Amino acid sequence: MSSTSKSQAIFRQAQQLFPGGVNSPVRAFRAVGGTPRVIARGQGPYLIDVDGNRYLDYVLSWGPLLLGHAHPKVVEALNQALARGTSFGAPCPQEVELAQAIQRRMPHLEMMRFVNSGTEATMSALRLARAVTGRPKIIKFEGCYHGHADMLLVRAGSGVATLGLPDSPGVTRGAAQDTLVARYNDLGSVQRLLEDHRDQVAAVIVEPVAGNMGVVPPQPDFLPGLRELTRQHGTLLIFDEVMTGFRVHPGGAQALYRVQPDLTTLGKVIGGGLPVGAYGGPREIMEQMAPTGPVYQAGTLSGNPLAMTAGLATLRAMEAENAWAQAERRAAQLETGLRDVLLQAGVAAHVQRVGTMLGLFFTPQPPRDWEGVQRADRERYALFFHSLLAQGIYLAPSPFEALFLSSAHSEADVERTLAAARTALAA
Ligand code: PLP
Repeated sequence: MSSTSKSQAIFRQAQQLFPGGVNSPVRAFRAVGGTPRVIARGQGPYLIDVDGNRYLDYVLSWGPLLLGHAHPKVVEALNQALARGTSFGAPCPQEVELAQAIQRRMPHLEMMRFVNSGTEATMSALRLARAVTGRPKIIKFEGCYHGHADMLLVRAGSGVATLGLPDSPGVTRGAAQDTLVARYNDLGSVQRLLEDHRDQVAAVIVEPVAGNMGVVPPQPDFLPGLRELTRQHGTLLIFDEVMTGFRVHPGGAQALYRVQPDLTTLGKVIGGGLPVGAYGGPREIMEQMAPTGPVYQAGTLSGNPLAMTAGLATLRAMEAENAWAQAERRAAQLETGLRDVLLQAGVAAHVQRVGTMLGLFFTPQPPRDWEGVQRADRERYALFFHSLLAQGIYLAPSPFEALFLSSAHSEADVERTLAAARTALAA
């Protein structure tokens, strides 16, 4: 394998400065072992590390980069915006343009609010849901991750599972006591909670396609069933589309499955690689936010012109280049190719794909929920990961994360990945 000496030297310094050497836990490679690569730059579907090694990237900054790295139109738009100033703390035209671009794709967002991360989006949407219903409790699903707000760090999927922590110390019983946990793809578990806590549940928050325990698609009755149950109980339904928004379908999971939530949270793709989140829904609910309503939420850098520009340039280029369809074709190619490779190798594993997100599970059965995902052979994943990394292919350094495709990935890139997978499984 090519040298990683510069990565190792920089990472040694990073470990003195940041817990585990990282600013977000999964980057530390703890689930797969070894030293993380320190990245110098990204180009199309590739990451290039500080030693000059090039990797075909299936992480894509954990989802945002549907066009690949440093897409020329995004870079040009950002260069122009940069020269005009990075943040004004006042309204700017770009926030209106990005909101309109989102609204065209997700018409149920009559109004929205931009924030700086997915965490902020879900946290704020839940505050709003509690305020408008006057109810304290929320229901989330085991294995779904909605960011790191205290009330949501309860059986929260990949990041926490990767570290083997059941929940996070520092989250008080008070903060977690109003969070009820149901089982993904199990409507009965939701119904029981809603009945046991009648008139107490403000919202059900769900990843409409679970993407933080690998990729677990909703069973056909799951999302329509949630819609029905929440309506019956006067509970708001929140689709956390931070990951799925514009990844599983050009109109998000709500368009793919034709189920309309009461509130939607967004992030990742709408920031085109810069820090952005958003939450939105019907006007009458959103007008409860300050300053039109009493529910407070604010942000120094929210809606800043640079982040708005990156999101807008990304959505525009996606449309102009039919990028979603292109990335989806590559994802389908990878899905069928990987299935063949696994079958030929006689390995018990499953590939689950929705749109441009793909989950690879070394499990005996295709997982439908967190319990199924837990049966994954973690060691086998770690070996597979390192073999691919040595062959210049960068998968998520955790068996509980999704793989992401971009429109920059070519047919030949995917073929090369399949050849590398064949080599890895033959070893
Ligand atoms: N919601 C979902 C579904 C996510 O996948 C994530 C991040 O991975 C978040 C919320 C949190 O977003 P952020 O990391 O931008 O705070």
